[in-house]
Amino acid sequence: MTHRYQAAIVGGGPAGLQAALTLGRMHVETLLFDDVRYRNAASPQMGNVLGWEGAEPAALRAAGHAQLAEYPWVRLVRAGAESARDDGRGLVLTASGAEWSVERLLIASGVEDALVPIPGVRELWGDVVLPCPYCHGHEFAGGPVAVISEGSHAEHVGGLLRGLSSHVPVIAPGEVAEVARSATGVRIMLLDGGVVEASCVFIPPNGVPRSGLAEDLGIRYDGDGIEIDALGRTSRDGVWAAGDVAKRADARIPAAVVTALSSGLIAAADIAASVAVARDARR
Ligand SMILES: Cc1cc2nc3c(=O)[nH]c(=O)nc-3n(C[C@H](O)[C@H](O)[C@H](O)COP(=O)(O)OP(=O)(O)OC[C@H]3O[C@@H](n4cnc5c(N)ncnc54)[C@H](O)[C@@H]3O)c2cc1C
Repeated sequence: MTHRYQAAIVGGGPAGLQAALTLGRMHVETLLFDDVRYRNAASPQMGNVLGWEGAEPAALRAAGHAQLAEYPWVRLVRAGAESARDDGRGLVLTASGAEWSVERLLIASGVEDALVPIPGVRELWGDVVLPCPYCHGHEFAGGPVAVISEGSHAEHVGGLLRGLSSHVPVIAPGEVAEVARSATGVRIMLLDGGVVEASCVFIPPNGVPRSGLAEDLGIRYDGDGIEIDALGRTSRDGVWAAGDVAKRADARIPAAVVTALSSGLIAAADIAASVAVARDARR
């Protein structure tokens, strides 16, 4: 008979790694799938992560993997989970041509950033084109800091940055021809021929949830992510979501490393509780 794991986590970013640590510490037999496409991979350093200020994102993940190696209950599978289905006794995930039977699933697969289609933005993403003032604003404080955005996002981010810099030009995306690296940071070329120089520029991140598994399992989600309750439970029994792929209770809550770690812990704690309840019910 196929072995059935007590839990699987799809995604090895901060949310999935923290969840794996919690489940490992609770001796829950867990599969951790990761296809190694981290959201902040383009960024040379992290900000606003207590204990990890200025560290490379990869350093946090490496420390996480080293710590997880202490917990034999967690098995890392470096492969993408391609699909999920219900076999009547639990879930079956497919990855790398193999099938894996699991009792519970945590989706922590993150988002992909659908960036505004301005030439230069993709190339400078994570360097001097940035998503989040809480993560990178302080490092550029004092110099001119631009915002390419409009509407409520421009108001919100512009307002935050004006606490860090006295010069915060806000430019609508439709006015921008191109952005390029300059000696002092970034040069923003406007369609009317004007040029704005800044040390960096913030744009809306526009994360699109990687939700193929949610779709497979008929779980409720929309463009803001998978719907969850306060414990990370989705609309389907036995499936949780955490990190950026999960819809935040309020759009103003930052999608960040610490919030991902926190939501991974919350969901994993509930998964461990569900394992305990099922075990005691069998006694
Ligand atoms: C450029 C940039 C810089 C940032 N800088 C900061 C910062 O300085 N500080 C901060 O707090 N936040 C920062 N953030 C935000 C932060 O990166 C995210 O909030 C955080 O990574 C979310 O963690 P996560 O675990 O939900 O998702 P991710 O870190 O994106 O991890 C998702 C994981 O799931 C895996 N995956 C996806 N689909 C599958 C599948 N089907 N099978 C297997 N694996 C799968 C991916 O490979 C990846 O490993 C930044 C974001 C960006 C875009």
